[in-house]
Order: sequence, then C-alpha cells, then structure tokens
Amino acid sequence: MAKEFNKKFMHPTRKKLVDMVLTGGEYEKNTQISFSGADKEKVKRKVGERWTDENGKSWEQHEGGKIEVSDLGDIMADARAYLNKLNTCHAEDCNTIKLSRADKKLVSKTGYCATCLAKRETQIKIDGLWEAYEDYKIYSNMIAYGQELVEKLNQAYTDAKQEYEFVHEDGKIEKWILEKDVNEIKAEILADITKYEEEIQQAIKLRDEAYNKLKDKNYDLVRPLKD
Ligand SMILES: [Zn+2]
Repeated sequence: MAKEFNKKFMHPTRKKLVDMVLTGGEYEKNTQISFSGADKEKVKRKVGERWTDENGKSWEQHEGGKIEVSDLGDIMADARAYLNKLNTCHAEDCNTIKLSRADKKLVSKTGYCATCLAKRETQIKIDGLWEAYEDYKIYSNMIAYGQELVEKLNQAYTDAKQEYEFVHEDGKIEKWILEKDVNEIKAEILADITKYEEEIQQAIKLRDEAYNKLKDKNYDLVRPLKD
C-alpha cells in the first residue's frame, strides 16, 4: 500500500532519478574504462602521464619508473580538503585554536566561528545597521529559496505528461495516468511560476535597498550582489 502511494505522488524528476538508481542505466552508459595501457607493447610514457592497465590498475609515470596511483585516493584527498575548508574559520584574524561543535556549525553556515562572527555582528550593531543587515539576510534567503522553487516548477512544467511509466526493479513497466488534464496542470504550474517570480522581484528590490545601506562598509558578512 505504502509503495503504491509513493509512486502515485512522486514528482516526475524524482521518479526519473529513482528509475536511474534502480536500473543503473545512465551510470553504466557513461562509464567506460579505456585501456590505453598496452604495457606489453612498451608504450613510451611522459613523466606525469596517467593510464589504466588491462587489470584496471592506474599508474603514473615518474622519472624513475611507474608508480601505482589510486583514483579513490585522489577523491578522498579532495574530499578531505573540502571538509577541512568547511571546518575552518574564514577570518584572517581568527584566534580560535580548536573549533567546538557549535563553531563548526556556524562556520558551515556563515563562514566564521562564534567569536569571529560575534565580532563582525557587533560592529554592524555599533554602526546602527543591524536592521538593514537582517533585511539583507532575510531577503537574500527568500530569493535563493524562490529561485530554487521556480527552477523546480519549470522542471515540473517540462516533465508534465498525461501518462507516466514506472520501471520496476524486475524490468516490469507500470503505467499510470493523471486524472486531471495535463494542460490544466501545466496552466496551474505556470500561474505559480508567475506568482513566485513576482515575489522574487519584490524580494530583490528590498534586498537591494538593504544592501545599498550596507555596501560602503564592506562587511565580511555582506557579500557583493551578483544577481
Ligand atoms: Zn574565527
């Protein structure tokens, strides 16, 4: 019963993803390992060149010979560097030696540890611009959220069909048909998009007003506008 319910109300985009995960189709298609490593033929390699041999092992050519490298190792190093950056306070004058759990949360949200954030926020309060700063934050979030929503609605509009197919794990295909006319649904989605776009425009106007009050101070917490 539960499964039935989920399927019927699943958003087309999500359904596509589920299908992809279930069948593994898209992924397989794009995964092609090229065996350039015809080691038996003694291919001359440049220093720094990487290749994969017929056993699926990856190598890198160094001055003294080849060294086995692992792509997974690189990915892990990248991931570690990324996580490290997420856990590092962005303030150049940061004196916090060890970030607490709360600090780390703040760093991922604001870029700064509690001490550095408080210092920056206090300055904004002293300058008498706290209200403008709060407006700037609220409207920035609203715009980001609204744009994400419109993007999803656009996708839903494009994906809307009268009839859907659901591919099961065992390859069985199940069809289901929308009760409502698809054109009617599309019209509703379009009306929603228009409504949200108007609201976004309004939020942009208010955010810009707030930003104009703040911009001359060049606060670290107020990023220059790009949209
Ligand atoms: Zn800090």
